[in-house]
Amino acid sequence: MSRRRQIYEGKAKILYEGPEPGTLIQYFKDDATAFNAQKKGTISGKGVLNNRISEHIFTLLGGIGVPTHFIRRLNMREQLIRQVEIVPIEVVIRNVAAGSLVKRLGIEAGTQLPRTIIEYYYKDDALGDPLISEEHIACFGWASQEEMHDIADMAIRVNDFMCGLFAAIGIRLVDFKLEFGRIWENDYSRVILADEISPDGCRLWDMVSGEKLDKDRFRLDLGGEVEAYQEIARRLGLMPEGAETTVADLDTHRKNKGK
Ligand code: UDP
Repeated sequence: MSRRRQIYEGKAKILYEGPEPGTLIQYFKDDATAFNAQKKGTISGKGVLNNRISEHIFTLLGGIGVPTHFIRRLNMREQLIRQVEIVPIEVVIRNVAAGSLVKRLGIEAGTQLPRTIIEYYYKDDALGDPLISEEHIACFGWASQEEMHDIADMAIRVNDFMCGLFAAIGIRLVDFKLEFGRIWENDYSRVILADEISPDGCRLWDMVSGEKLDKDRFRLDLGGEVEAYQEIARRLGLMPEGAETTVADLDTHRKNKGK
C-alpha cells in the first residue's frame, strides 16, 4: 500500500490527501506549542481527546446550521474534512478578560466583559500573529467585506452556542479562537468553519473552583494537562463513566455506545 500524501504539517495537526477530491484527512498530534512556538512539548493523549471533542462540537454546530469542514471522524486521531482555502485570519472571541487582552490593556484577568469582543489576528508565524483590524483585512485583501460579515456572524453564533454548552457542564467559556476556510462551488465561494475547536484553542474555567481546564495548564506549567482535557471530554459525555477511564478507552466506548 502506498503511503498517503502529506499536504501540510502544522504545530498540532497534519493534513493528508483525502480519499476523494475536495477532502482531506486531519490527523491530531500530541504536540503542544505556546508563545508562538517558543515553548514546545508533548501532551500524551491530547490528539485523541481533541479529535473527539472537536468532532462533538463541530457536529453540534452543524446541527444548528453553522457550516463546517467536518465530515466524519475516521479513528482515534483522524477525521475526514472538506478541503478549504484557509482565510489567513485567526478570529478570537472573548467573554472574559484573559491572556493577551490582560497584557495589552491592563484589564484584570477574570473580569466579565460588558460585551463580547471579536478580535482578528493575521496568521503569520514569522510576525507572531499580529493583532489587526478590519481595515487591514480589507486593505490587503485577506477576506472580502461579505466574507467578514459572514465570519463575524458565525463567530457570534458559535460563541452563543458554546457559552450555553459549557455553562451546562459548569464551565465558563472565557475566550477561544476560530479559523475559517473558503470553499468553491462553481464560480462562487463561501466561508465555512474550519480547523478545530478543542481545549488547545479555548480558555475553559471551572465555574466553581476557577480551575483552568485548557492549554493554559501547559502555557503556565501548571501540570495535569491531559487530565484537564479528559475532564472536558468527560463533562461533555464523551468518556465512559468510571474513575479508571483512560484515553485508550474512548474508542471502545464509542463502538459500544452504537450497539
Ligand atoms: N489562541 C489560539 N491560537 C493562537 C492564539 C490564541 O488558539 O495562536 C486562543 C487561546 O487559546 C485563547 C484565545 O485564543 O483561548 C485568546 O488568546 P490570547 O490572544 O489571549 O493569546 P495568548 O494568551 O495565547 O497569547
